[in-house]
Amino acid sequence: MEDVVVIGAGISGLTAAHQLQQVGHRVVVIDKSRGLGGRLATRRRGLTAIDHGCRYLQPFSDSTLSCLPALLETGVLQPWEPKTFVLEATGSLKAMPTETLYIAPQGMSAVAKALASGLAIHYHWRATALTPLPEGWRIEGETLSSDRQEQPSSIEAKAVVVAIPAPQAAALMNRAAPQNEDLAKLMHQLQNVEFDAVITTIAGYSPDESANLLAQTSLGGWMVDGNRQSVLRWAALDSSKRTDPQESVVVMHSSAVFAANNIDRSDLESVGQEMLAATAESLASWLSSPTWMQVHRWRYGFVQQPLGSPVLHSPAVSTLVGCGDWCSGGNVEGAIASGRQAAQLIATALE
Ligand SMILES: Cc1cc2nc3c(=O)[nH]c(=O)nc-3n(C[C@H](O)[C@H](O)[C@H](O)COP(=O)(O)OP(=O)(O)OC[C@H]3O[C@@H](n4cnc5c(N)ncnc54)[C@H](O)[C@@H]3O)c2cc1C
Repeated sequence: MEDVVVIGAGISGLTAAHQLQQVGHRVVVIDKSRGLGGRLATRRRGLTAIDHGCRYLQPFSDSTLSCLPALLETGVLQPWEPKTFVLEATGSLKAMPTETLYIAPQGMSAVAKALASGLAIHYHWRATALTPLPEGWRIEGETLSSDRQEQPSSIEAKAVVVAIPAPQAAALMNRAAPQNEDLAKLMHQLQNVEFDAVITTIAGYSPDESANLLAQTSLGGWMVDGNRQSVLRWAALDSSKRTDPQESVVVMHSSAVFAANNIDRSDLESVGQEMLAATAESLASWLSSPTWMQVHRWRYGFVQQPLGSPVLHSPAVSTLVGCGDWCSGGNVEGAIASGRQAAQLIATALE
């Protein structure tokens, strides 16, 4: 039996796992994906890293991002100061003061990799059910990759951190909740959390064209915040985050309304084309004709209705804690704070 299984290798799960391992617990992290970081996501196209999830870190409080100085010192994170615009409801672009944001030149998943160092992680393993045992938990799951046949069909642990989006966490409790009133209450709380979906379109352009956008933006790049009425939530020159960009890459995230209307369409390519056309109309016509394009959907993108508490926890089920951005909101910062609190509660329960 493991001491702790952490379900989900996003920033909240890795924060909890890292902290629990540091105080001497044997921790196993599992994730259904083949990589680390969850929505702190980077994909590669040739040598080019592209952030198709979390765009940047923007620390609001010194305490939650106390990892920032160390990540800056090792070069994992660097300041990014793009020219910033807001797309107003009238359709005009308003220039905003430039802020210092923090990005990872290797891609945002590098932040997760830095946290994950030394942790035991099972990739491509999707948890499907959680069952309470007299002294802990059984986590059942399935291997999602044919080349990982040595993976177990279940893992037992004294304690569990559930660090996956609330709707997916609720699904893990479906089977056991009818026989366990405390678990049923936790599941009910999870079902009240709501997420906005996001559709992300990534497009590559010839460098000459993208340099022309928005009155010759500097090498520092540009980003545009959309508005509630538009198709666009946000767009930026992602390649301006790289130290030696090989090509110009623009990342566009859709508004919640556009995503809700299009998330289940099977013709994702056409959805991406629609986003490009709308973005081109608002920002610059050349955006509608990239040299290549990719589309990604995030069913659980941004928290719309959080739990309203830093973690999901009940003293009656003290060895099970839920954490993530969906607890208090606050994106990455909120997810880190939630992961920390989850680790503290589990450490206390295991004492
Ligand atoms: C497009 C986009 C842009 C964003 N931009 C920003 C930004 O600029 N700044 C910011 O602060 N925040 C941003 N966010 C939000 C930020 O990415 C999240 O708040 C944060 O990454 C959430 O971390 P988490 O650990 O709570 O969850 P996640 O990152 O979602 O991690 C959950 C993990 O659980 C795994 N998982 C799910 N179900 C299972 C299962 N059954 N079994 C095993 N594993 C499972 C997933 O694969 C995933 O790795 C953005 C989000 C999106 C979608």
